[in-house]
Amino acid sequence: MKPNIAAAKAALSHIEMDESPVTIRNKSRDFFWYSPVLKAEMDHLEADFVVNPKSEAEVIEVLKVCYAHDVPVTMRGGGTGNYGQAMPLAGGCVMHITGMNRIKEIGQGYVIAEPGIIIKELDAELKEKSGQELRMFPSTYSQASLGGFVAGGSGGVGSANWGALRDLGNINRLRIVTMEAEPRVLEFTGEELHRVSHAYGTNGIITELEMPLAPAYDWVEMFVRFDTFRAATEFAGTLTKEPGILIKLASVYGAPIAHKYFQRVKAHVTEDDHLCGLMVAPQSMDGFLTLLARFDEGEVIYRSDDVVWDRHPGPIYEYGWNHTTLRALKFEKDLTYLQVRYGGDVDKVMAASEAFADKLYMHLEVMREGGGISFAGLPIVQPMSKAELDQLVADHEAMGCMIFNPHRYTLEEGGRQSADQRQLDFKREADPKGLLNPGKMITWDEPDFDYSDMYSYKGILPKP
Ligand code: FAD
Repeated sequence: MKPNIAAAKAALSHIEMDESPVTIRNKSRDFFWYSPVLKAEMDHLEADFVVNPKSEAEVIEVLKVCYAHDVPVTMRGGGTGNYGQAMPLAGGCVMHITGMNRIKEIGQGYVIAEPGIIIKELDAELKEKSGQELRMFPSTYSQASLGGFVAGGSGGVGSANWGALRDLGNINRLRIVTMEAEPRVLEFTGEELHRVSHAYGTNGIITELEMPLAPAYDWVEMFVRFDTFRAATEFAGTLTKEPGILIKLASVYGAPIAHKYFQRVKAHVTEDDHLCGLMVAPQSMDGFLTLLARFDEGEVIYRSDDVVWDRHPGPIYEYGWNHTTLRALKFEKDLTYLQVRYGGDVDKVMAASEAFADKLYMHLEVMREGGGISFAGLPIVQPMSKAELDQLVADHEAMGCMIFNPHRYTLEEGGRQSADQRQLDFKREADPKGLLNPGKMITWDEPDFDYSDMYSYKGILPKP
């Protein structure tokens, strides 16, 4: 059915709407442009209109009206996703949720909040009122929403201790609204959480979250310098494994990343230096320094509780995760990146580092995983064509590395290249017309897709 945009807009005229074409364009975009492939595919995309609901009742109304008029709905929180997750492939309505930003309850070990709250603001309130903080947050802390993190993110600062967002216990409860003639409100816990977490809003809209908390600390943020990439990687891995030392971040920046792209760090390193970026709880500093002393090399060149640098480098987490790529892109706009899982084996990381030395600079984030650790890579990749990028992905896979391809806009290609049956089953139930963020779940549109080439959604708005 053809969407009746005019009728939907008229029926929703009492809900706050953005009218300015510039705002509509801006709210139709995210950080898709990190990928030259997605930039070419998605730059022209634009919603027909943008609504800004302030309550669950308004969300329900938007969904009901859009369902009646066959209008696609794509959710937007902070709009910081990388895979074009929040971009409306088929136009229609973008629902911007940051006006729905109340904290409903803070308890011992948990918080209940609305999805549009900005994570940094939530954390500030948590610290002030209860001495607690979120277990993990994306490095886009100051812009990203809580709902956007759960619907589009995977982990981040805190994963060095708590693992990935989808690991059991890292989300307590989600409240969801469906896209039907009469939208239903459902509460998910346990196995049901996987239906909608990291589903890009393709099968339900999150209107409330209960998230677990940890005690808040004045984390000591540090840069530690190493002569070799192997030494930096081994140290970061060992530190993350050490059960008694509480950390929140363990990043590794292979040379010459720090010297080339970290403006305020440059004066303190050479182009051959490899750095770890770390957040360690203050009470764990003695254990941390003892561990560091056991390594032959490793020199703390910056610590936030004793700043001797002329220029403050800012928060260390804004050097890690995908901020590393962002810093590099500020210097060389044609660079790009990959998302790689090497597992917990340092030798595999080293093999990849050597095999692709002429194509990328290594950047790792160490995470806890399944009782051990895993090295997640976000290497900075030299400018290359789509065909070369595809080859680089294939070469990593041939080495046994898992790629979460950031040059694709679908859940499956950005994930494990296979259907998530729980998400698909729930979409059948909750979005029978397929109007939620259309084109992002391949198995909904083309169950037999074979992944031999990039998926191309047939309903995508034509390029002008
Ligand atoms: P958006 O981009 O607005 O939305 C993300 C997805 O969620 C979209 O598909 C959207 O449709 C959907 N969505 C939003 N709200 C809802 C809702 N209420 N109900 C249902 N669906 C919804 N990601 C990480 O996981 N870890 C990182 O450390 C990290 N670092 C980053 C650093 C940089 C510099 C950049 C550009 C990106 C980074 N990301 C990271 C990706 C992104 O910032 C995070 O995933 C972030 O949490 C997304 O939040 P957001 O509010 O901006 O979501």
